[in-house]
Amino acid sequence: MSIISEVEVYPLNIPFIRTFKISRGYIGAPGKPGEHVYLKIVTKDGEVGWGEARPNPSWMYETIESVYTTLKKYVTPILIGKSPSDINKILMEMDQKLTPVVSSGQPFAKSAVDIALHDLLGKILGVPIHTLIGGKLTDYVEMSALISGTVDTVGDYAKEMKDRGYRFFKLKIMGDPEIDFQLINALIEKVPDAKIWLDANQAYNSYTFSLLLRKINDIDNIVVIEQPVPTYDFLGLKRLREKSRFPIAADESLFSHHDLLKLVWMDAIDMLVLKIAKSGIKTSHKIYSLAEATGIACMGSGMTESGVGLLASTHVFSTMNIVAPVDTNGPQFLKDLLISGLEINGAMIKVPDKPGLGIKVKEDKVEEYKVTLNV
Ligand SMILES: [Mg+2]
Repeated sequence: MSIISEVEVYPLNIPFIRTFKISRGYIGAPGKPGEHVYLKIVTKDGEVGWGEARPNPSWMYETIESVYTTLKKYVTPILIGKSPSDINKILMEMDQKLTPVVSSGQPFAKSAVDIALHDLLGKILGVPIHTLIGGKLTDYVEMSALISGTVDTVGDYAKEMKDRGYRFFKLKIMGDPEIDFQLINALIEKVPDAKIWLDANQAYNSYTFSLLLRKINDIDNIVVIEQPVPTYDFLGLKRLREKSRFPIAADESLFSHHDLLKLVWMDAIDMLVLKIAKSGIKTSHKIYSLAEATGIACMGSGMTESGVGLLASTHVFSTMNIVAPVDTNGPQFLKDLLISGLEINGAMIKVPDKPGLGIKVKEDKVEEYKVTLNV
């Protein structure tokens, strides 16, 4: 197999077509583009693999600059001269160079590498990523609608998404029990049969969230509550799990199988949120296997990635037993996904069967959205 001879890193700003705000700040909005990093890995024979990282420091500490310098300075020398089939070896060497401590150590940057290598290996072997990792269970992956807005806007937007074919609604709540209660009711008023997945993005502590729990106790539309308390507050998750009649899920508290082991040992969660953006393809499988063994249900989500991250997520989720429609919401918010060959029908995204990611990256668009970083 031809060796890797070239690595390109592209920092990008991709415009948002509608506002997406979480409790800790903006993911993006018109005039506030999303920050992405595309990674292109090329072999001596000219085969190309693509990866994407979607840093967002209001969600997690990595930035567009740190992902860029991590990939350029520390990861590129590991990749050059290796075979694309050396995925395990490359991931191990990345962890030797950028040592995980109690977190995964630059997980977003490492995820871009993991995705690009699977895309590249799939293309060389002539098989889609889902085949590389054991084969898809489904031809289409169903998506949830991401609802972020005010009491005046969330109902109408949820109704619009329902009319487009969505059944599940992931509602971003902000940390004020009264306003969040109103947000939930405003959504249900316009979509009475909505299945609601609440995501607080760490906005509460276990006391303030218990105030919201009292208000929402009778609302059967709610199917799960995600990350009500800060990333480090495993005890808070556990306290709320004991109080809540709704399942409690971890997102920002869980990047790896090591995190899951601690959460299971503490009996702190019912469910978890897998994201290829935070765990890559290989570590997502480690988490999934441990979740299966310990009876934790898996949901799937993303970081509002464009096409490369979206399709990597779609391939992986198609191979797993995921319990709710996945929240891969790039198509809802981004002006451009930078790829061709994507098929979406309503809430259903087709799992590609062409080699690698199974789509084509539009390199002219990568050039168009490229930015120069001051590093
Ligand atoms: Mg989340």
